[in-house]
Amino acid sequence: MQITDLDFDRTHIWHPYTSLKEPLPVYPVASARGCEIVLADGRRLVDGMSSWWAAIHGYNHPHLNAAIHAQTEQMSHVMFGGLTHQPAVDLCRRLLKHAPASLQHVFLADSGSVAVEVAIKMAVQYWAAREQPQKNRMATIRGGYHGDTFAAMSVCDPVNGMHTLFRGSLREQLFAPIPTVSPEQTWQPETLQPLRELIEQHHHELAALILEPIVQGAGGMRFYHPEYLRGAKELCEAFDVLLIADEIATGFGRTGRWFACEHADIAPDIMCLGKALTGGYMTQAAVLASADVGATISDGPAGGTFMHGPTFMGNPLACAVANASLDLLEQNQWSTQVTAIAAQLEQELRSLASLPSVADVRCFGAIGVVEMRKPVDVAVAQQAFVKAGVWIRPFGKLVYLMPPYIIRPEQLKKLTQAVADLAHKA
Ligand SMILES: *Cc1c(COP(=O)(O)O)cnc(C)c1O
Repeated sequence: MQITDLDFDRTHIWHPYTSLKEPLPVYPVASARGCEIVLADGRRLVDGMSSWWAAIHGYNHPHLNAAIHAQTEQMSHVMFGGLTHQPAVDLCRRLLKHAPASLQHVFLADSGSVAVEVAIKMAVQYWAAREQPQKNRMATIRGGYHGDTFAAMSVCDPVNGMHTLFRGSLREQLFAPIPTVSPEQTWQPETLQPLRELIEQHHHELAALILEPIVQGAGGMRFYHPEYLRGAKELCEAFDVLLIADEIATGFGRTGRWFACEHADIAPDIMCLGKALTGGYMTQAAVLASADVGATISDGPAGGTFMHGPTFMGNPLACAVANASLDLLEQNQWSTQVTAIAAQLEQELRSLASLPSVADVRCFGAIGVVEMRKPVDVAVAQQAFVKAGVWIRPFGKLVYLMPPYIIRPEQLKKLTQAVADLAHKA
């Protein structure tokens, strides 16, 4: 890359959550392979981010590459209205096989945020079909993240989701406090009380409760007790409110189970999948719905039509590479890999908790989080990380790792060492 390209990038291109004025520096990437990102200047960085939870098998994987190449020879895309194809049918069949048995229908969406929009629409159409159109609000828990489109934003944490900026454009939803008991702590049933009160008071206007099961990701990287999720499911059943599980970050093994709902042994009415669905190759998401949700919407107004249909719905390339990713997951090495990563993260990060600069260390599945006492200067931290040969992107006070499942112990050691160095110097 030429200097002029970087200048152009800086002047004309928005990056995620960035200002055009004094944007954070960006590092040009030439290629990526396995667990390494190769910069344009030849430096190799061990990847601790899986490109935002997605690249679970690492980059440039021969099996995923082959699937996408083969699919381009057949067709890269055809419309999904009135047409169907093998890659989509195979993918949906396989997703239903791995999901809780009550989930029977699949809607393929283009990204995680859109999947959340679709899930919310399903919940609203469900109650319209049951002739209770007043049940159209959402309940959720604080500290969540569900995406950047409007309905998704309305259920993100109101503070770090910047609801004040969009006041007037966002539907006001109902928020229960952040669950306080972590998975390794002893469960305290009274911590469910605020959610119980919220649902008790508002169930007549609630379409659904939406939450990230067990792991709250981009809203703060917090982990909560499976009993909370089990209790939430019971409340939804008792008060006739649908449960939407946003498994976009947690799905496909990251927490040590196929889906994080399994930690609590519950089945949601609607489940959103994304991120790792295509092994990090392409944008694609899926919304799974129960037989009841599917049947009820289909008996509803507008001839039972579900009102969504993106242009690139069921994109064959995305379906083909998602199927290839499922091939790898079904070989079942991920479970051993995630267990090993979890143990090493625990071993190498835990002791940082005693440092004065560190507020908390928490690990769950193949996720390790070091919460600092002060916000991390991302530009400075990232420069140090790149110098150390690793790719880690902190946000706020959080420095976290969620590496590809295929990472080797010495590569992971390099990541935890870099985090330790940052914590020691802070
Ligand atoms: C990333 C994420 C989303 C949004 O997905 P995009 O593909 O970025 O639109 C939604 N929910 C959760 C839990 C996520 O982690």
